[in-house]
Amino acid sequence: MAIESINSEASPRSVAILGSTGSIGCNTVDLIQRNPDDFVVEALTGNSNVALLAEQAVRLRSKLAVVADPSRLEDLRDALAGSSVEVAAGRQAVIEAASRPADLVMASIVGVAGLAPTLAAIRRGCIVGLANKECLVSAGDFVMAEVARHGANLIPVDSEHSAIYQVFETERVSSVERIILTASGGPFREMSKAEMAHVTPEQAVAHPNWSMGAKISVDSATMFNKGLELIEAHHLFSMPEDRIDVLVHPQSVIHGLVAYEDGSVLSQMGAPDMRTPISYALGWPNRMAAPSARLSLEEIGQLTFYAPDPDRFPSLKLARQVLRNGGGAPTIFNAANEVAVSHFLGGRIGFLDIAEIVEQTLEKVPSRRLENLDDVDQTDAEAREAAEELSTNC
Ligand code: NDP
Ligand code: MG
Repeated sequence: MAIESINSEASPRSVAILGSTGSIGCNTVDLIQRNPDDFVVEALTGNSNVALLAEQAVRLRSKLAVVADPSRLEDLRDALAGSSVEVAAGRQAVIEAASRPADLVMASIVGVAGLAPTLAAIRRGCIVGLANKECLVSAGDFVMAEVARHGANLIPVDSEHSAIYQVFETERVSSVERIILTASGGPFREMSKAEMAHVTPEQAVAHPNWSMGAKISVDSATMFNKGLELIEAHHLFSMPEDRIDVLVHPQSVIHGLVAYEDGSVLSQMGAPDMRTPISYALGWPNRMAAPSARLSLEEIGQLTFYAPDPDRFPSLKLARQVLRNGGGAPTIFNAANEVAVSHFLGGRIGFLDIAEIVEQTLEKVPSRRLENLDDVDQTDAEAREAAEELSTNC
C-alpha cells in the first residue's frame, strides 16, 4: 500500500541516502521503491561499489550519485553516461550530498567516516534517520548539541533504539527509571572462549537472526555492538550508564524496553527485519507499510532472556568504563574497535584479539577532554595509530 501520505503536505518527501549501497542503504532503497509516489530521491552515496550505486541512481531517478573514493569517479561517470544523474566523488562531495535540500537524510555510512556527512545533514535541521551509531559513540556530545541547536529530528534506526524511541514518553522523561537494550548474543553466544579463539571471519559474519554489513556483524559476534549501542542510547535518551541495562534475548523479538516508575515496562516487538525500524524513520512522524514478516508469537512459543557473560564478552564492561571516564575515551573505544575489526576481517588478527586491542589502546592513548570536533578527530587519529601498531604485534 502506498502510504496515505507520510507528509502533512501532499508532496512527496525528498530523501538522501548516505551509504545507499550498504545493508541499511539497500533496505532503504527497497522501501522507497515500494512507495514511489511518496518519495523523491535527492542524492545517493557509496564508497566504491560504483555498479550498484549507478544502478540504484537510475532505478530511483536520483538527482545526484556520489562515490566517496575519488579514484572511482570515471567509472561512475561511465556507468551513468546518457542518464540525467549528476555525479561527484570524494569525501567533500559526500558532505555536499548530505547538504542538499532533502527533507530526510538516511545516515547509513559505516564507521566514523559517517560523522561529517551526518553533521552536515543535522545542521540543515532536517529529519535524520540515524543508523550510523559510530558517529554518536565517537562524538555524541557534539552531535547531540548540533541536533538541539539546529532543531533537527534525529530518529534512531538501530532496532533497539528505534524500539525504545517508540515507547519512550518524551513528555514524562522523569518517570523513566531504566531503559533496556536486548541483544541476540550473536553467532558465538554458546561458545567457550577457547573455541572463540579459532573462529574465522566467515563464521563471525554469519549472524543467526539479522542480515547486516560485515563490520556490524563482527561487532555483534564480539558484542562490541551492544557496547556501542549502550553509548548510543546514553546520548539519544540522555540516560546515565547505570540506568541502561542489557539483556540477551536470543529470539530477537523484543527489541528494546522502557521501565517506568509505576512498574510498567513498555516494549516494541517485531520480526528481526531492519525494514521495520527503517520504515519508522522514513515515515516519521507517521507509520508506513513495510513488507517485514509478521510476528507470530504463537509460532515462536517462548521468549528467553539472560544476563550477558562479562568474561566471554568483555565489551560491555569496557563500554561502561569509557562512558564513566568520559572525555575522549568513547572516541578511542570506537576507533580501536574499527581498526581491530578491519584487521580481523582481513585475516590478520584473531577474534579474541579485537577486545585485547581495544583494551590496550584505551590504556595507551590518553583520554583528554574534548573541546571541539577537531579534538575528536585528533583523538580518533591517535587511537587508530595505536591500534594499528598493536594489531601488527598480534
Ligand atoms: P555496510 O558495510 O553494509 O554499508 C556501509 C555503507 O557505507 C556502504 O554504502 C559503503 O559503500 C559506505 N561506506 C563505507 N565506507 C565509507 C567511507 N569511508 N565513506 C563513505 N561511505 C562509506 O554497513 P551496514 O549497512 O551494515 O551498516 C551501516 C551503519 O548502520 C553502521 O553504522 C551499522 O552499525 C549501522 N547499523 C546497521 C544495521 C544492519 O542491519 N546492517 C543494524 C543497525 C545499525 P560501499 O558499498 O561502496 O563500500
Ligand atoms: Mg542494534
